[in-house]
Amino acid sequence: MWDATGREYLDFGAGIAVLALGHRHPAPLAAAQEQLERLWHASNLYRTEPGEELAAKLSDRFGGARAFFCNSGAEAVESALKYARKSTGKAGVVALEGSFHGRTLGALSATGQPAKRDAFTPLVPGVRFAPPNDTAALQDAVGDEVGLILLEPILGEGGVIPLDAEFVATASELPALLCLDEVQTGIGRTGSFFAFEQLGVRPDLVTLAKGLGNGLPIGALLVADEAEEGLVPGDHGSTFGGNPVSCAAACAVVDAIDHELLENVRERGAALVEGLSSLAGVAEVRGRGLLIGAVLDRPAGEVVDHCRERGLLVLTAGDDVLRLAPPLNISAEEVDQALATLASTLQRDRDRPSYNL
Ligand SMILES: *Cc1c(COP(=O)(O)O)cnc(C)c1O
Repeated sequence: MWDATGREYLDFGAGIAVLALGHRHPAPLAAAQEQLERLWHASNLYRTEPGEELAAKLSDRFGGARAFFCNSGAEAVESALKYARKSTGKAGVVALEGSFHGRTLGALSATGQPAKRDAFTPLVPGVRFAPPNDTAALQDAVGDEVGLILLEPILGEGGVIPLDAEFVATASELPALLCLDEVQTGIGRTGSFFAFEQLGVRPDLVTLAKGLGNGLPIGALLVADEAEEGLVPGDHGSTFGGNPVSCAAACAVVDAIDHELLENVRERGAALVEGLSSLAGVAEVRGRGLLIGAVLDRPAGEVVDHCRERGLLVLTAGDDVLRLAPPLNISAEEVDQALATLASTLQRDRDRPSYNL
C-alpha cells in the first residue's frame, strides 16, 4: 500500500482482516468489474446469478446450508439473533465475556465488553455471558429460556483467544442453537475455510463477513440444511443485501481459497508465531493460521504507531495485544520483512522511551 505522500507500507492488518487476497487481487477485481458492467443492484426482491452462485459455493464448503446475504458482520449477527428467536421461540442468548459481535444494538447486546456497551444501555435483554473455555459456566448459563449460543471460534477483537475444542463441543450438545460467529475467523483465515472445521463440530448457524468480499461490503448468515425452518420470506430482509457486485467478488474469493492457499496460511502462520515468540517484549503468542495475537509487555497501540512509522501496518486486539491478520497469500519474504520491522520496533521502544520518538 502507498499513502498520499507515496510512502510504502506492508499491510499486516488487511483492513481489519478483510483483504483475504490482498489489495487489487486480479480475481475479485475482474469479477467485480465484469458484474459492474452487467447489473449493479436489483434489491433482494429478485434472485441474481451472483447471489445464487455464492450461496451454492458457501453451501458446498459448509456441507449443506442456506444463505441470507446482508452488508456487514453486525447485520449477519442480527440475522442470527432473529433466526434463533423465530425458530426456537426463545429470546435468551448466551455469549462470552470479552466477545465481539458488532455495534448495532442486538449485536452489541451480545458483545461481552462493558466498555463498548455501557454508554448505550438499556440494551436488548436476555443475554448472559460466560467466561471463554469455562465449560461448567457455559452449562450453567444455558437455561430453558436460551435459544442461542453465540461464539467466536477465536475471540478476535477481544484479544485473539482460541476456544478449546472440548468447550465448543459442549456448546454444540447443549439444548440451544449454536451460532459460530466466523466474521473474522472464516474464509480461510485460520488455515481451514471455516475455523470450526478444526474443532470437530457442525454448527446450526454461521455468520460471515470481513474476508468474504475482499473489501466489498457483504455479510452472510448460513443456516445448516438440517436446522429447523426459521425465517421465511417477509420475516427479514435488506435492500442492499446480496448486492450482485459484492457477490461476484465474493465468488472469486471463495474460489481462490484452495488447498494450496490454506497450506500457505498454516505455514506462514507457523513462521509468524515462531518469529514473534522470540521477540523482546512478547509474553505470549496465540491464534491459528493468520489470525495471530502477541501479548506485549507494553500498550499495543504504541507499537502499532511505531510500526506504521516504519512502513508496517498491524492491529491491536485489546490494550496489550498486537494482532496480525495479513492477506492469506503473503509470502515467506513478507513474513520475514514484517518480523524484522517488529523486532527493531520492539527493541527500539525498549531502548528509547516513547516520548523520545
Ligand atoms: C468485525 C466483527 C463483527 C462486526 O462486523 P462489522 O462488519 O464491523 O459489522 C462481528 N463479529 C466478529 C467476530 C467480528 O470480528
